[in-house]
Amino acid sequence: MTGKKTHIAENLTQIRTRMAQASAAAGRAPGTVRLLAMSKTFDVETIREAVRSGQRAFGENYLSEAVGKIEALADCGLEWHFTGPIQSNKTRQIASRFDWVHAVDRERVARRLGEQRPGSLAPLNVCVQINIDAEISKSGVAPDEAAALCEFVAAQAGLRLRGLMAIPAPASLGSDPRRPYRRLRELYESLLARGLALDTLSAGMSGDFEAAIAEGSTLVRVGRALFGARPDKPVCG
Ligand SMILES: *Cc1c(COP(=O)(O)O)cnc(C)c1O
Repeated sequence: MTGKKTHIAENLTQIRTRMAQASAAAGRAPGTVRLLAMSKTFDVETIREAVRSGQRAFGENYLSEAVGKIEALADCGLEWHFTGPIQSNKTRQIASRFDWVHAVDRERVARRLGEQRPGSLAPLNVCVQINIDAEISKSGVAPDEAAALCEFVAAQAGLRLRGLMAIPAPASLGSDPRRPYRRLRELYESLLARGLALDTLSAGMSGDFEAAIAEGSTLVRVGRALFGARPDKPVCG
């Protein structure tokens, strides 16, 4: 990697500016949207560079790859988010290594994460993943099952329910990138109205985070716009 010039500091500045502009355009107060840097497939040195530019929250999708990075950067006081699909046999490691999970989509996984969260740590922050365009994508819980799963998560001692997450299928974006995020926001508001204590809408990626912010996203998950293009496959795992 020696001598390789990256643009992470500039990219971060640009992304933060675009986030602030989208937020202002939507009439939202400054500082109400957080940036999660999606560092999957990028190495420890690349992450360090983002840390030097003030970034503290990182998202990973592949457990075996993430564990090495979390260990290598243990002294940096970073916040780690597991954003990938969660297999039941991986819950123990996820529950003990991460601060957040974004893709909880069934009770079995929620129960295991709660039971396996070490008592020495704060409760694991959880977003329930919503299948916002049912015909196209397969992951996430159906919108009409979201309330029940959120209530289940909220009842688990080792978990702290934070909100909803969605990954719209590219085809669903079409000419109106805000459409799936509008549906997500409506669901979020209906859950708030039911009395669920939610404060996080995990929505928006490199290609559409402004649309997500316009529809109330509080946490955008940005990879390529920050770190550059990813290889097609995970480095390992
Ligand atoms: C990779 C990833 C992102 C970021 O996608 P980019 O297009 O690189 O910004 C966001 N969310 C999840 C769950 C991801 O896996």
